[in-house]
Amino acid sequence: MERSALEIQKLVIIGSGPAGLTAAVYAARANLRPLVFAGHQYGGQLMLTTEVENYPGFPTGIMGPELMEAFREQAERFGARIEFVDVTRVDLKGPPFTVATDEASYKTQGLIVATGASARWLNVPGESRLRGRGVSTCATCDGAFFKEKKIVVVGGGDSAMEEALFLTRFGSSVTVVHRRDALRASKIMADRAKAHPKIDFVWNTAVEEVLGDPVMTGLRLRNLVNDRVYEYEADALFIAIGHDPNTGIFKGQLELDKAGYIVSEDGVRTNVEGVFVAGDVYDIRYKQAITAAGMGCKASMEAEKYLEALEAEESEQRVSA
Ligand code: NAP
Repeated sequence: MERSALEIQKLVIIGSGPAGLTAAVYAARANLRPLVFAGHQYGGQLMLTTEVENYPGFPTGIMGPELMEAFREQAERFGARIEFVDVTRVDLKGPPFTVATDEASYKTQGLIVATGASARWLNVPGESRLRGRGVSTCATCDGAFFKEKKIVVVGGGDSAMEEALFLTRFGSSVTVVHRRDALRASKIMADRAKAHPKIDFVWNTAVEEVLGDPVMTGLRLRNLVNDRVYEYEADALFIAIGHDPNTGIFKGQLELDKAGYIVSEDGVRTNVEGVFVAGDVYDIRYKQAITAAGMGCKASMEAEKYLEALEAEESEQRVSA
C-alpha cells in the first residue's frame, strides 16, 4: 500500500551520479536538506568504470566507484538524505510536485532531474539470451570471468577503447569490432588501444547475431563494405555503443527531444517551472563526469533562487490574506 510522506520537501533530486550528488552537496550546504533518490544502484555510470584519469584534482587518477563514494559522503556530511530506491512515477503539475517510489509518495517544491543515461544494447538475436553468459555492457563487472578467453568489444568511442584496454588484463585477445573505418574515441584513447599488442580491430563490420548455447561461442558478423557474412569465434562480447537517457517517467510531462533527452533552453531549466535538469539526461554533447558535476552545481543554485522566490511569494500572499 502506498504511504504518503506528509512533510513537503523543499528539494528532491532524482539521480546520484556526479550531477545529482553535486547538486546534493550544494543544496545541502544551502540548508535545503535535499532528499536524493539514488536508485537501487547509486553512483551512476562511474560505478561501472575503472580508472578515471581526467577528473581534476586526482593527478594519478581515481577509481570510478571510489570517486562516487566520496561524492556521496560529501553530500551526506552536509545533511543530504539519500534513499536507495528508484522513483517510479512523478506528477509535475505543481508545485508541489509528486515524486513516488513503489513504497511511498512525496511532495516537493523543487525538483532536480539527474537521472543520467543507460548503456545501449545492439538488439540482435542471441544478445539477451546470452546476457550474463558471455554478453555484457560492463567490463569492470564481468571482465574477470574471461581469463585467457577471446573477447570482442563492439563500438568505436571512448567507452569501447576503455573497455578494450581494461579487458586486456584478462583476455588472450581483445578484438574491437566497429561499424566504420574510423574511431570516434579521443586521440589519446584511440592511440593507446591501437598500440596495445593484445588489441586488434575489425573495421566496417556489424554484429548481426550472438551465437552459442548455453554460453556464447561466437558472433555472426557482416562486413558492411562487401556484405560478406561470416562466423567469428569468441567467448565474450562487451557492448560499448553509447547510452540512452533515463527519461521514461517524465514522458508527457517534461519536453523531450527525439532521442528522449530532456530539452532545456539554458541547460538548467526545463519546460516546467521549478523542475531543473543536470547531467547526461540532458547533455548529449560532453557527457563527462566533470561537466555533469558542473551542471549539478548550476541546477542546485538555480533551484535555490527559485525556492527563495517561491517562499517570498507565499509569505506575501499570507500577509495580504
Ligand atoms: P559514443 O562516443 O557515442 O560512441 C559510441 C560508439 O558506438 C560510436 O563509435 C558509434 O559508432 C558506435 N555505435 C553506436 N550505436 C551503434 C550500433 N547500434 N551498432 C554498432 N555501433 C554503434 O559513446 P561512448 O563511447 O559511450 O562515450 C560517450 C561519452 O563519454 C563521450 O563523450 C566520451 O568521450 C565519454 N567517455 C570518456 C571516457 C574517458 O575519457 N576516459 C571514457 C568513456 C566515455 P559511430 O562512431 O559510427 O557513430
